[in-house]
Amino acid sequence: MSFDDVIELAKRRGFFWPSYMIYGGSSGFYDYGPLGTLLKDNIIATWKREYAREGAIFLDTPVISPADVFRASGHLEKFSDIAVKCGKCGTPYKFESLVKGLGINEIAKTVDEAAAILEKYDVKCPKCGEKLKNPYDFNLMFRVGSNDLYLRPETAQGIFINFKNLYNYARNSMPIIVCQVGKGFRNEISPRQALIRMREFSQAEVEVFYLENDDFPAPDSSTELNMLRNTGELLKMKVSDALKSGIIGNSVMAYFLNKTYEILLKLGFQPDHIRAREHDPGERAHYSSETWDFEYLLDGDWTEIVGVSDRGTYDLGRHQQFSGENFQIDGRTPKVVEPSYGLDRILLTIMDSSYYRRENGYKVLRLDPHISPIHMAIFPLQKRDDLDRIAKDLFEKMKNIDPFIFYDDSGNIGRRYARQDEIGTPFCVTVDYQTKDDETVTIRERDSTSQVRVRISDLLERIRSFPDSLSTLFSS
Ligand code: AMP
Repeated sequence: MSFDDVIELAKRRGFFWPSYMIYGGSSGFYDYGPLGTLLKDNIIATWKREYAREGAIFLDTPVISPADVFRASGHLEKFSDIAVKCGKCGTPYKFESLVKGLGINEIAKTVDEAAAILEKYDVKCPKCGEKLKNPYDFNLMFRVGSNDLYLRPETAQGIFINFKNLYNYARNSMPIIVCQVGKGFRNEISPRQALIRMREFSQAEVEVFYLENDDFPAPDSSTELNMLRNTGELLKMKVSDALKSGIIGNSVMAYFLNKTYEILLKLGFQPDHIRAREHDPGERAHYSSETWDFEYLLDGDWTEIVGVSDRGTYDLGRHQQFSGENFQIDGRTPKVVEPSYGLDRILLTIMDSSYYRRENGYKVLRLDPHISPIHMAIFPLQKRDDLDRIAKDLFEKMKNIDPFIFYDDSGNIGRRYARQDEIGTPFCVTVDYQTKDDETVTIRERDSTSQVRVRISDLLERIRSFPDSLSTLFSS
């Protein structure tokens, strides 16, 4: 299915849609609807469980910070994109996306370099054809009112400035893995592709604090990863082998690149739909000495969904310098590796990778059952002969065990299956005439569309450990 089909589905079935439409909309802002809210929660829950398994601790800090924080972090000075505005029609462009979209394979580190590229390729406004010139630096920080306060552009700084509290909490032991989920705000020059480039978005960030000789085990890779080096070399190898051959800089980066890959696979991405791309030195953020982006091929464009950066001692060092606080342990400033997950991009790209059309024309959202917004649906075969009463009674019992179950008795049974397939519900239970005789129901599995008949007592037992105990019914 195309990107437009995904956007259409998202709006029609209540995953997400543009905000403020009754006032004409406001670019870069999106609302999550009933199903999108649940899907996002489930993605966060999967991510959280995976990091809790690593011994991570969690934090929740304010979205508004005093300017001091971003003076120290370097964001006020350096967190900018190069922009260019059409002199005739006024359309603003992010320089990097503009040239990429025109197939120009050059990176500009400065405004002067950008001006030279515009001149060299005689770049014109894609909208009105006017020659583009005078690129400029555009800071992405949102200022709050006239106070010296800013909306955070990433959740990470809230973690860094709390290092001492976290170290105390961890009983002075290292390494420490700290996670935070929350909103980030960037005044993007040209928001685009729905959830891909927004002005307010959700991040799930991890800061791994460690000391030089803290040992991280070699990553236990099972699946090969597509890797694009900044030399242009394309490789397919296990992360553990990439570490051995020096392609990845250090064992902490390797460990968390592998962890990130595992989480993306667990969320349902196909290995061949994603790749890890190494940043060019000129492309890296001001705090990073090595960055790999996990990218997904969306609408013909490789799009970043997670960034994994080696931030070294940059952030703690700067906050020590600016605040006067001492973050050192035995005379050494801890180093940091950061996997930063864009939740909105992950949600959109999972929907894109899961949406397909069956041979019979029906549409299916093949979400992994662990993240499906609705776990199961239950229907009476017919809305008569007491079948609806039996189905409703069963629904009440099921809901007590798992509340994410949906009852539907409108339209024919085929339509009801189709409605659930389209939103990714992995299992549908049907109460039919045989139920009256032997207390059994059918369970239909979304992807195979095959059905098994089980006793109601067995069904209720299996719901307790959703979805694995149900999936095993269909694995033969
Ligand atoms: P960065 O700090 O730029 O590496 O961002 C970390 C992650 O946040 C990225 O991998 C994206 O998935 C996500 N992200 C960054 N900017 C935006 C944006 N404007 N809209 C939506 N997601 C974003």
